[in-house]
Amino acid sequence: MATIDLMKSKSDFETIEKMESQVRSYSRGFPAVFHKAKDSYIYDTSGKPYLDFLSGAGSLNYGHNNSFIVESAISYLKDGGVLQGLDLATSAKIEFLNDFNRIVLEPIHQQFRVQFTGPTGTNAVESAIKLARKVTGRRSIAAFTNAFHGVSLGALALTGNGFKRRAAQVSLNDVTRLPFDGYFGTGFETLAYARQLFNDPSSGIEVPAAFIVETVQGEGGLNVARNEWLQELASLARSLDSLLIVDDIQAGCGRTGSFLSYQRSGIYPDIVCLSKSISGIGLPMALMLIKPEYDQWAPGEHNGTFRGNNLAFVTAKAALTFWEDHKFSTHVSDLATQIAYELDNMISEFPNLLKRRKGLGLFQGIEFAEPSLSLKTREELFSKGMIAESSGARGEVLKVMPALTITKELLEAGLLKIRQTLARL
Ligand SMILES: *Cc1c(COP(=O)(O)O)cnc(C)c1O
Repeated sequence: MATIDLMKSKSDFETIEKMESQVRSYSRGFPAVFHKAKDSYIYDTSGKPYLDFLSGAGSLNYGHNNSFIVESAISYLKDGGVLQGLDLATSAKIEFLNDFNRIVLEPIHQQFRVQFTGPTGTNAVESAIKLARKVTGRRSIAAFTNAFHGVSLGALALTGNGFKRRAAQVSLNDVTRLPFDGYFGTGFETLAYARQLFNDPSSGIEVPAAFIVETVQGEGGLNVARNEWLQELASLARSLDSLLIVDDIQAGCGRTGSFLSYQRSGIYPDIVCLSKSISGIGLPMALMLIKPEYDQWAPGEHNGTFRGNNLAFVTAKAALTFWEDHKFSTHVSDLATQIAYELDNMISEFPNLLKRRKGLGLFQGIEFAEPSLSLKTREELFSKGMIAESSGARGEVLKVMPALTITKELLEAGLLKIRQTLARL
C-alpha cells in the first residue's frame, strides 16, 4: 500500500515537473505532493504529516483550515452570500469594516479609510506608492536595503533582491535606496545620514513622496527596526512632508504580537499595507489603510476586478475575533519568549554554526555563519517532517514561523527537531 502511494505521489510530481512553469519555487525546496492540512500540520498524499513553520509565508497566521474561520465561510456559502462583488457595497464588506474599526483601530486611537486593492500584497504596495506620488506631486520613493515589497514593476523597484530585480529587464527607477536600521552595525545612525542628504538641496538626492518600510524585514532576513528608529523615521518623513508607508503585509496581522506590527513603537503611519493573513485562511485579499486627509483618489483611479472577494471579507471578520481581547496577543508573546529562549540556547550550544537570533514575536529565526548550512538544515528538517524556510540576502536565516495558534507543546517539539538537526550537521 505504502509503495503504491509512493509511486502515485511520484507520478503526480512528474505532472508538476512536466506541466508547471519553471518559475515554481517552494515545490522545489519541499518536493512532496500535499493533499490535506489542519492547524499546524500539512499532509502529503501518503498521509505523512509535516509540522509547518512556514505558515504560507505568513499568510496562515491562524494555521491551516482554522475550524472557526472555515465554519464562517461554509455558512456564508450555504446562505448564498455574494462571492464576487467588484467594489459594490455588500453586507460582508460592511461587517468586516465595522469589526476592523472596533477591534483594530479604535483601541489604538488611529483613524484610517480602508481601500480594498487588487487581492495581492504587491497591488496594495502599487496603490500606496501611486497615492503617495499623487498626494505629494513628487516622484521618488525612499525604500530600504534588503526590503521586499512584491514583484510587480512598481513594487519590484522598491524590493532590494538583485535576482528578482534583474528579472524585470527594464529600469526600476524613481526609488532612493537608504540603509535600514543597523545596516552598518551599531553606532552608525542610518537616519542621520538620510536626514542630512534630504536637507541638503545640493546633495543630489530628491526629497521623496514617501518612505516605505517593513518594521521587521521578512524576506530580508528578519531585521528588526528599533522603536526609536521607527519614531525617528516618522519624524523625518513629517519634516519633509513625505508620507510614511508601513508595509505590514508579512509582519502584520499579529505576527509580531500586536495586530499592527508598528504598535510597539507608537507611530501613526500615513498609509499601511495589509495582505497575507488578513483573510485568516489564505484567501486572496489585500487592503490599504489611509489617513483620511490623504485619501485623495478620484473614484476608480486605482481599481481591479477582484477587489471584492466577499468570502475573504467573511473569513477576515471571523479572524478578527481572535483579537477581541488580550488573550491571543498574550499567547503569542508567551510563545515568542519560548522561541527566544530556545533559540538562544541553540546559539550557545552551537557557537560555530550560528551567529545570532533575529526577529521578533513569532517572526524569529537563527542566522547561520555559513548560508549553505541554513539550506542544509531546511532540507534535513523537511526529510524529518517539518517545513521551515530561509530568508536573508544569502538565505542565511532560518525562519521559525509557526501558526500563532500553535500550542506550547507542539512549538517545543518543533524547536527540539531544529536542535537535533543542528546537532547532526
Ligand atoms: C509577501 C509580501 C509582499 C507581496 O505580497 P504578494 O501577495 O506576494 O504580492 C509585499 N511586502 C511584504 C513585506 C511581503 O512579505
